[in-house]
Amino acid sequence: MVGSVGNGLANLADKPAPLPEELDPKKIIDSLPSEAESNGIEEKETQGSEIEKKKREIVLGRNVHTTCFSIVEPEADDELTGEREAYMASVLARYRRSLVERTKHHLGYPYNLDFDYGALSQLQHFSINNLGDPFIESNYGVHSRQFEVGVLDWFARLWELEKTEYWGYITNCGTEGNLHGILVGREVFSDGILYASKESHYSVFKAARMYRMDCVKVETLISGEIDCMDFEKKLLQNKDKPAIINVNIGTTVKGAVDDLDLVIKTLENCGFKDRFYIHCDGALFGLMMPFVKRAPKVSFKKPIGSVSVSGHKFVGCPMPCGVQITRLEHINALSSNVEYLASRDATIMGSRNGHAPIFLWYTLNRKGYRGFQKEVQKCLRNAHYLKDRLKEAGIGAMLNELSSTVVFERPKDEEFVRRWQLACEGNIAHVVVMPNVTIEKLDNFLSELVQMRSGWYGEEQGKPPCIAKDVGTDNCLCGSHDK
Ligand SMILES: *Cc1c(COP(=O)(O)O)cnc(C)c1O
Repeated sequence: MVGSVGNGLANLADKPAPLPEELDPKKIIDSLPSEAESNGIEEKETQGSEIEKKKREIVLGRNVHTTCFSIVEPEADDELTGEREAYMASVLARYRRSLVERTKHHLGYPYNLDFDYGALSQLQHFSINNLGDPFIESNYGVHSRQFEVGVLDWFARLWELEKTEYWGYITNCGTEGNLHGILVGREVFSDGILYASKESHYSVFKAARMYRMDCVKVETLISGEIDCMDFEKKLLQNKDKPAIINVNIGTTVKGAVDDLDLVIKTLENCGFKDRFYIHCDGALFGLMMPFVKRAPKVSFKKPIGSVSVSGHKFVGCPMPCGVQITRLEHINALSSNVEYLASRDATIMGSRNGHAPIFLWYTLNRKGYRGFQKEVQKCLRNAHYLKDRLKEAGIGAMLNELSSTVVFERPKDEEFVRRWQLACEGNIAHVVVMPNVTIEKLDNFLSELVQMRSGWYGEEQGKPPCIAKDVGTDNCLCGSHDK
């Protein structure tokens, strides 16, 4: 790749790749569909049954037309012609511009888009692959295990597990961490029942389906935290089977942090001592929590089995990745039955992205504990700012104490939702305040929202939706709760 891998937006904007001189780029660009039609991307409706489309509508709340740049077969003479190169260059240039624009208007997903990895662009030319286990070298020499193990050591220290007692690896995403953590739990207790609050990430329920595990959904409080009263009730109904529990360190929609200590106490009170396995899903806040003063501590000094975190969320890696840490004793037990491989086969994937550990290593070195701490404080401050401004404007909103996820009334206009890339569920939407979300960006968002919203409701159009059941009556500002 040529140029910087960073996304300093200033130098990204309006810098399309150069086109061969002998060609008229205008002609080629004109032959592409217009930006208005397709956001710079040639649109092709997916072929799929009506049922499939319907399902998608339910999941996402709107129809998504998959867009694609089609592959144009080269001419028979196999020459890479100037025209073809120019075509590809123009597609890429337009795509790059749309990325710049989409990056500017992004608020709904917990991705930190503020980074500069220019120093790593020199590594783009290598096919780095950490095949298999991080601690056992394979014969493929183009790997980055040195970086991977360094990053894993850092996380093991953060979560208080000795170097000699942990095992882990850099995953392809937070989902893979959950799939792994729950698998380890099931290997430790093969007849265990999986418990997860109903606001757990869908990957947890996916794991239950994949592994054909019995899964019990536990109710949540208004905040989104697991309801330990309901948890207790359900544990007592299944006393004969061990428990495997997914604990959320930040739920996807409300950013709620389950009370780990209370979960452990509930398990012990219900007679599950030494018969439970806890996986902590820290995909979202696993790396923010340690820096919030009042937050409950995620630590292997407590009886937990594994912790996972996403690398492309708060940390800000430009490619999906994650970190999974578990106890070495569990892995030794799990992999004893695959000795015939003459190695250890304890990862979910075979080939693994060898670039990701280097990006993580780079960020951890640059920011360190103190850098993350500062960024977390800034995010929490900005999240409070957003919540307060929303409420001042008469818009119902909620912000959990340990969270930077601001939940509020779903904007009525889908175009507005798409423009700001808000994540919505039912009557609520959220903004996740990440380090790249500045006050200025929030102000732009707020003024646009307030202005547009004045046209959505009124005498004729009716009242804004009641969101009391999602955020509590105190936070709802609909007609009947704003007194
Ligand atoms: C994002 C998220 C995940 C999944 O992470 P991916 O990296 O997207 O696979 C899991 N759990 C929670 C709570 C999340 O927010």
